[in-house]
Amino acid sequence: MTLHVVQYSGGIGSWATAMRVAMRHGTDRLVLLAADTRVEDPDLWRFVADSAAHLGVKPVIVADGRTPWQVFADQRFLGNSLIAPCSLHLKQKPCRAWLTAHADPADTILYVGIDWAEKGRIPGIEKGWAPWPVEFPMCDPPYLTKQQMLDWARAEGLRPPRLYDDGFTHNNCFGVCVRAGQRQWRHLLEVAPERYAAAEAEEEKLRAHLGDVAILKERRQGVTYPLPLRELRRRAHHPRQPG
Ligand code: SF4
Repeated sequence: MTLHVVQYSGGIGSWATAMRVAMRHGTDRLVLLAADTRVEDPDLWRFVADSAAHLGVKPVIVADGRTPWQVFADQRFLGNSLIAPCSLHLKQKPCRAWLTAHADPADTILYVGIDWAEKGRIPGIEKGWAPWPVEFPMCDPPYLTKQQMLDWARAEGLRPPRLYDDGFTHNNCFGVCVRAGQRQWRHLLEVAPERYAAAEAEEEKLRAHLGDVAILKERRQGVTYPLPLRELRRRAHHPRQPG
């Protein structure tokens, strides 16, 4: 009997994916596979527990044990929008280890919760998870927006993860993601200055060891420069006046 393994991130897309898989295949052979980065919002785990109970499935939670910051220190590399070793070490590797131990690629289907607007990512994801075959139920019609998925969860009696109400697009790493752009970091500074300050302090520690590196970059007159969180905060608090 085929094993159906949903990459269960705690985001609303992976929840909707799990619901579609459950509707198509039942829940007897359904696995909700979640990776703990040790920096998630506690409310993410509340949602994972509530939604898994709603499906009648016990989630499988794997962990490397480190935080993204510890991975950056160990790798001597600060993650950014293009290269995120945190994702490789804290999510992909622990999930792969679980799959290797428990899921025969010949009789397993993996499911990833990207939606129809992200279809361009499919070849890369399929390649990354080989030899396990991957399906993308939210890329199938009827196409749902994120808002429709959130409404669906509410209609099922679930309280969606609070990070969406706080204005974040993704429910991961408590809104402190090295893949995010300036806009999300400015938003984090506004709605959760204490988490921004903690990230800024971690970045400064790494800069002390690694030199002039930063999560963010900016281009000025055709040249790319690191843009430390400290500087982004300074600009947010002291914007240049026009003229
Ligand atoms: S959500 Fe962002 S910070 Fe967290 S592991 Fe993934 S890439 Fe890294």
